[in-house]
Amino acid sequence: MERTLLIIKPCAVQRGLIGKIVTRLEERGLKLVAMKMQQLGPEVLREHYAHLVNKPFYPIIEESMMAAPVILTCWEGVDAVEVVREMAGATNGRKAVPGTLRGDFCVSHQENIVHTSDSLETAQKELARFFAPEDYCDYPSPMLGFIYAKDEL
Ligand code: ADP
Repeated sequence: MERTLLIIKPCAVQRGLIGKIVTRLEERGLKLVAMKMQQLGPEVLREHYAHLVNKPFYPIIEESMMAAPVILTCWEGVDAVEVVREMAGATNGRKAVPGTLRGDFCVSHQENIVHTSDSLETAQKELARFFAPEDYCDYPSPMLGFIYAKDEL
């Protein structure tokens, strides 16, 4: 089982989309194993978006990500990193395919409602950035045998 990070961005918190986003992942069959609301600051954002810090639009990213608290979530499942990343859709909400979270809930490149980890290696780094070991909940999944076939587990 993989674990991945999905951040519900301030724009989605303000627009009242937390429940809809969480529901979509739950209904797909992913398991929520950690969740918290947090106001992010410039330091953690510079680390999280290190690949974009030198871009001209970085100040807009920082402002947007600090505009309200975010919801940090960790989801578990088979191939969870790719499954959740595909559910998010293209970065630019205007190009995101309908049926994806961004394709259904936004029309902006920046205000694109969620962040998702882009690889297993990134997921591990990002989860360690936002969650402590005690933030994760270990609980039984009685539906697992109906969500996956035996040979997938
Ligand atoms: P993703 O969030 O899909 O992994 P990136 O890591 O490339 O995409 O970008 C991180 C975030 O920075 C995006 O989700 C978006 O909010 C913002 N961003 C990226 N590129 C642009 C851009 N050209 N203009 C405005 N915002 C951007």
